[in-house]
Amino acid sequence: MRDQFTHAIEDYLKTIYDLSLTHGRASTTQIAEVLNVAPASVTGMIKRLAGAKPPLVEYQKHRGVVLTQDGKIAAIEIIRHHRLLELFLQETLGYSWDEVHAEADRLEHVISEDFEERIARVLGDPTHNPHGDPIPTRDLEIPPHATLCLSHLRPNDRGTIRRVRDTDPELLRFLSDHGIVPPASFTVTGYTPFDGNLTLQINGRDQAVVLGMRITQQIYVERE
Ligand SMILES: [Zn+2]
Repeated sequence: MRDQFTHAIEDYLKTIYDLSLTHGRASTTQIAEVLNVAPASVTGMIKRLAGAKPPLVEYQKHRGVVLTQDGKIAAIEIIRHHRLLELFLQETLGYSWDEVHAEADRLEHVISEDFEERIARVLGDPTHNPHGDPIPTRDLEIPPHATLCLSHLRPNDRGTIRRVRDTDPELLRFLSDHGIVPPASFTVTGYTPFDGNLTLQINGRDQAVVLGMRITQQIYVERE
């Protein structure tokens, strides 16, 4: 079924799915920002998706976009491709965790269902990608994953790093340089009010690291 979609459509569906997870729905402005396109072209594409048979999105002017069930299935299918590919690139081809996202963004549109199946088998049906994001199952169920933001923790909280937003390679390199990689465990040893900086002692590291909100909002943890 997914072969009928263009790469652009798949990127839209994935983006709307992602934005809906955090905001309940997606606005055209947010979609334009993520995909780095003009708001006018977003509006055009949304109309196309809403008019598709079957419709892939529901669109209400000024309220934004939600995926229909068909749109959601297509989005989760492409996310399964993406995350399986990321793990495959890292485990089998030796890519580092800051390189896999961009490569998977290209490959996710072109691999066949058979290729997807073989990757899943070679990797032993994995549940999470290198950044800790859940890999949807064959039946498109989403495995459990951490949703608590590190920014909500305070001194003396302990926990485990579970998941890191994967789109900024520079941030990923910074994090791995400091041992902030799933499943590292840590203790919060400091917090500065107003600017929200957190000091983290990562287990097994000598030096503590101070992280601002721009970073702590991109990291998901499990509190002990
Ligand atoms: Zn990714």
